[in-house]
Amino acid sequence: MPVLDQLIAAIRSSTVTIVDLTARLEATTPVIQLPEPFANTVSFSLQEISRYDDRGPAWYWNNISTGEHTGTHFDAPVHWITGAGREDVASVPLNCMIAPAVVLDFSKEAAANNDFLLEVGHIKQWEADHGPLPDGGWLLYRTGWDARSASQQEFLNADESGPHTPGVSVECARWLADEAPLVGIGVETVGTDAGAAHSFDPPFPCHSALLGAGKFGLTQLQNLASLPPSGAVLIAGPLPITGGSGSPARVLALVEKT
Ligand code: MN
Repeated sequence: MPVLDQLIAAIRSSTVTIVDLTARLEATTPVIQLPEPFANTVSFSLQEISRYDDRGPAWYWNNISTGEHTGTHFDAPVHWITGAGREDVASVPLNCMIAPAVVLDFSKEAAANNDFLLEVGHIKQWEADHGPLPDGGWLLYRTGWDARSASQQEFLNADESGPHTPGVSVECARWLADEAPLVGIGVETVGTDAGAAHSFDPPFPCHSALLGAGKFGLTQLQNLASLPPSGAVLIAGPLPITGGSGSPARVLALVEKT
């Protein structure tokens, strides 16, 4: 049987399940909050054009307002100054949008320490347990943060010293950018960097190193707990916004029952 027929048969028989990794887009979807004097993104909103009324008697439709970096979204290399001149979100190669994914679960560590940072040693230990990172694939970093996404306050977890959310160390970000065979990393938090990464050297090392290396980011993922450590296939669909630095994305995973 042709491979695509096999895939459809496997989906229909639930031998392969489809997991939605995407947060719903609505007015309450959390968005990052930068401090003064930086400009901020808008929240998602709908503006009704007509709803079976005088403005359009048989149809309902809306305009939408959103930031590129609102909700579950894709970071393109041009988003960061280190990637200026690199790919916009419309130029992301399609074979990076359907690719193998592994899940590294640090939800216990992040619960105990909201500022937990992923280190190269954690990844090496994971590889010793589960095998090498997938060539041309995605590292999905589970922290349990998806459980907080109904509340902007809990999701950003900020106090007077700033946001406290898990992320990646400077050394690990460099390693992911320069050494790992990955095309990108995906996280459950509002951005790929830790909440405290504004004070790292360099600041926002994931953005700086990965986007500068032409790699990608996916943020505010959900349901990573439903994926195996390895073997899933990620499907990420950012909108092809010409010149865009990122885009809200529908992100799915295919998981084979074993
Ligand atoms: Mn972003």
